[in-house]
Amino acid sequence: MIQVTMPLNFLGTVYREIRQALVDMGQMFGLLDQPPEVQDQSGSGPLAVSDGAVELHDVHFGYESDRVILDGISLTVPGGSTTAIVGPSGSGKSTIGRLLFRFYDVTQGAIRIDGQDLRDVTQDSLHAQIGVVPQDTVLFNDSILYNIAYGRPDATRDEIEQAARAARIHDFIAGLPQGYDTQVGERGLKLSGGEKQRVGIARTLLKNPPILLLDEATSALDSETEASIQSELRLLGQGRTTLVIAHRLSTIADADEIVVLEQGRIVERGTHDALLARGGRYAALWQRQQSEDAA
Ligand code: ATP
Repeated sequence: MIQVTMPLNFLGTVYREIRQALVDMGQMFGLLDQPPEVQDQSGSGPLAVSDGAVELHDVHFGYESDRVILDGISLTVPGGSTTAIVGPSGSGKSTIGRLLFRFYDVTQGAIRIDGQDLRDVTQDSLHAQIGVVPQDTVLFNDSILYNIAYGRPDATRDEIEQAARAARIHDFIAGLPQGYDTQVGERGLKLSGGEKQRVGIARTLLKNPPILLLDEATSALDSETEASIQSELRLLGQGRTTLVIAHRLSTIADADEIVVLEQGRIVERGTHDALLARGGRYAALWQRQQSEDAA
């Protein structure tokens, strides 16, 4: 009996981890009901992550053959560092995230993780190594405990509470009449945008992936909640390679590199201070956002 159930449990765990990553990614990029565009190559092996360095090499991509969306993007995110991608709506920021997750294949160039071309590794192993925190975390109609443990279903109760504390959602949960057993989701307690994001952070802390993809679109959060969640996001990013798709510049000022995208090309890159001093596109975006915030 044991011989049978152990592999099944293991498969269930792997399946759930992959499904969670896909659900989060699908939610993040509005791709939930789409059939997969790419298949594993026969003979492809698992991705082996050491440093977690992510490299885009001369990436070209279009959803349709007659419209270029990314036009020669090259960038390297060294293991453990943070790169933020900013730029106007439609410039191709989220598309880079979709390609990193290999929802689509590049039409020219390559994306590599620790030197391995994404096309040469299995998608399951790729998805297992990337944590995603979308702005609107999907909650399952189940207990809050289940929803956090989804990051790693074999986690102990202690580990789950530790992750919830680090994501600063433990006190909120402990204050609910049924605590961690509270039912959430559509048929249960509705959580606010900020609370949901904290559940997403706790889930990802538990999963402990070497690579993170953050969607910092903040339309779901008011600025006070956004500010208070930043420190938890920073904690989550510590020691992990992080790619931030940023819609608000205030949240990425301390990134190791900021890349400014316009019409699928990188038009500026550097640190926040260097880009401000340069007085170009980033500085103009920054000025505009500062005056919008003041209004
Ligand atoms: P925003 O800041 O508004 O989220 P973005 O910079 O993330 O924008 P993308 O979502 O990467 O932009 O989209 C880049 C372009 O690709 C847009 O013009 C968009 O219309 C187009 N696009 C996105 N998804 C698809 C798709 N599935 N099929 C065809 N075109 C798409």
